Amino acid sequence: MIDIALVGTGGNMPMPNRFLASMLIRYKGRKILVDCGEGTQVSLRLLKWGFKSIDIICITHGHGDHILGLPGLLSTMGNSGREEPVYIIGPKGIGQIVKGLLIAVPYLPYDVFLVEARETSLAVNLSDQGIEIDKGELHRDLIISTLELDHSAPCIGYSFYMPRRPRFNVEKALSYGLPKKLWKALQRGENVVHDGQLISPLMVLDQARKGVKISYITDTRPVEKMAAFVWDSQLLICEGTYGDEDDINKAIENKHMTFSEAASIAHEGKVGELILTHFSPAMDNPEEFICNAKSIFANTLIGYDRYTTSLKFPDE
Ligand SMILES: [Zn+2]
Ligand SMILES: [Zn+2]
Repeated sequence: MIDIALVGTGGNMPMPNRFLASMLIRYKGRKILVDCGEGTQVSLRLLKWGFKSIDIICITHGHGDHILGLPGLLSTMGNSGREEPVYIIGPKGIGQIVKGLLIAVPYLPYDVFLVEARETSLAVNLSDQGIEIDKGELHRDLIISTLELDHSAPCIGYSFYMPRRPRFNVEKALSYGLPKKLWKALQRGENVVHDGQLISPLMVLDQARKGVKISYITDTRPVEKMAAFVWDSQLLICEGTYGDEDDINKAIENKHMTFSEAASIAHEGKVGELILTHFSPAMDNPEEFICNAKSIFANTLIGYDRYTTSLKFPDE
């Protein structure tokens, strides 16, 4: 089970009823935050999912509405007793921006590691002790992929893939005469030696099972690779800065998208569900324009602050 919360759904500036666009993923007791605008920690506090176990903060780009909440949040995480390192991932140049923000919080009780990612995949292992990034082990808990977007600053979209471990086939294990004490290592993806024979996990595990994919796209114009990038996501969270089709010129000028453009990506990428976010402060009631998205992609929801949902693996 993977839990998702929209921490905020606004663009440009935080409003009393709409914080800035941010998402939180909770999986295996650990958390990944995507974007951290001014006031994100206030909405996180209202959400009540806790601060301490946020291991990774993925930043889409360096605009203030996506990053200015970082020093305050990192400080609060320190006050909540965190000692394990925090990884901050972002587009090219994010290191310099984050280092500047960190000047305001010089005494964090944990290390902050910066990862500049461009169209790359990072493998992450989650455990009670924290996380490991890019260890390349057979069974990873999470694969984070990024896509370069088209915005007025270097900007990346994210997809999060949680692989599903193959089932352990007891019959196959017994056919090799494997004692039970060796089963766990094989389930973890390790090779074992039994009676002088090397047994690999592939010999005793069933076929791969489908995992869960979540994609997050903001701020950008539509780009060609987008449908392929979000392909087959159970959930796509995508910016819809403008609901009204008459605002298309503003969308082009400001490098954002309309509801119908976001819905076209959901349709082409054959995703399960689309949730719109990053609404312009000028749009009081995004629901008013939902038909512009639903006429293209029916399973569309207008995101709202602290909306939560849980995703299951297809065979769960
Ligand atoms: Zn923005
Ligand atoms: Zn922006």
